[in-house]
Amino acid sequence: MSLDIESDVPLRALNTFGIEARARRLVRIRSARDVRQVVDHPELGRAPKFILGGGSNVLFTKDVCDALVVKMEVRGIRVVEDDARATLIEVGGGESWHDVVTWTLAQGFGGLENLALIPGTAGAAPVQNIGAYGLELSDRLESVDVVDFVTGRSATLPAAHCRFGYRDSIFKRELAGKSVITGIRLRLPKPWVPVAGYADVERWLQREGIGQPSPQTIFDAVCAIRRSKLPDPAQWGNAGSFFKNPVVNRTIRNEILEEHPDIVSYPLEDGTYKLAAAWMIAACGWKGQDLGKAGVHAQQALVLVNRGGASGADILALAHAIQDSVRRKFGLTLEPEPVIV
Ligand SMILES: Cc1cc2nc3c(=O)[nH]c(=O)nc-3n(C[C@H](O)[C@H](O)[C@H](O)COP(=O)(O)OP(=O)(O)OC[C@H]3O[C@@H](n4cnc5c(N)ncnc54)[C@H](O)[C@@H]3O)c2cc1C
Repeated sequence: MSLDIESDVPLRALNTFGIEARARRLVRIRSARDVRQVVDHPELGRAPKFILGGGSNVLFTKDVCDALVVKMEVRGIRVVEDDARATLIEVGGGESWHDVVTWTLAQGFGGLENLALIPGTAGAAPVQNIGAYGLELSDRLESVDVVDFVTGRSATLPAAHCRFGYRDSIFKRELAGKSVITGIRLRLPKPWVPVAGYADVERWLQREGIGQPSPQTIFDAVCAIRRSKLPDPAQWGNAGSFFKNPVVNRTIRNEILEEHPDIVSYPLEDGTYKLAAAWMIAACGWKGQDLGKAGVHAQQALVLVNRGGASGADILALAHAIQDSVRRKFGLTLEPEPVIV
């Protein structure tokens, strides 16, 4: 099948912020072969490209996206290995991440339940090493299938080569826009061990009287907590956390602590500290506040929302105002989590 190149495509339904933008040209990728067709195309091969999954971690700031939008739609999910030590699952890059989590649970495989309800595609999950409630994708990822946008060559990158960090990977840096992730492999270890140490999860399980959690009860806990805290993009356009939690060394953390003794921080294994950006934003008085058509969610100050008809520039203006406040009060610059296009 030859490539179907769509022109002047509305992107509003393809990004969870609900920003009105259009793609000058868009192609849908349903196999690694489609990527090679783009690479070999006399014109598209050389064009700048933007890979779009579910659009849940993107802020479009221009009315028209001039780069070729490459929409990831590779499907498929299957068990490739299942032995006493682990289950290995292979997933197409265009599958919905949450559907992957529910599919594994329905098959009786625990291990992904802490990452339930994270919007977006399986192919984008390694890009920022999605994480929530004590688990990151890198804890379960075996390897990533990529196709190079210059040579059209396919390769499989083992997880150890992906340079995973906190909301970070090689795909956000060296390989950004250069490689398209067509599939991933997940290793779910046996026996299943719950990851239930996160305070909110612990509290929920206690309240429900669950002493011995199962993959399903942790899934239920995570879904209930997320639904109570995070705005549904169908109601308020958003991209989840808009800022990363800053990671600082002990000296900086102690300096900030002297002036702001209530600041929420978590020690990390390498001796650094993660500071709660939501706490800092709230301390600057932004929680629940609006700037034009963009706002800060009243239940979770890390989430910026489209109050209706906001442009990408409106969201960005609010983000900049928050960054200025936090810089003035705490001397730190908050780094945005979504990709700004
Ligand atoms: C309500 C809400 C809650 C959220 N909660 C969390 C959370 O708890 N934890 C968390 O980590 N994130 C969270 N997010 C952010 C988002 O869900 C994740 O980052 C998700 O992985 C993005 O997937 P996507 O398919 O929508 O990617 P997109 O937004 O389409 O793309 C994101 C980036 O990845 C690149 N990309 C996408 N697909 C590919 C591919 N196949 N190959 C190469 N590059 C690609 C894009 O070019 C872009 O740079 C949340 C978002 C929302 C809206």
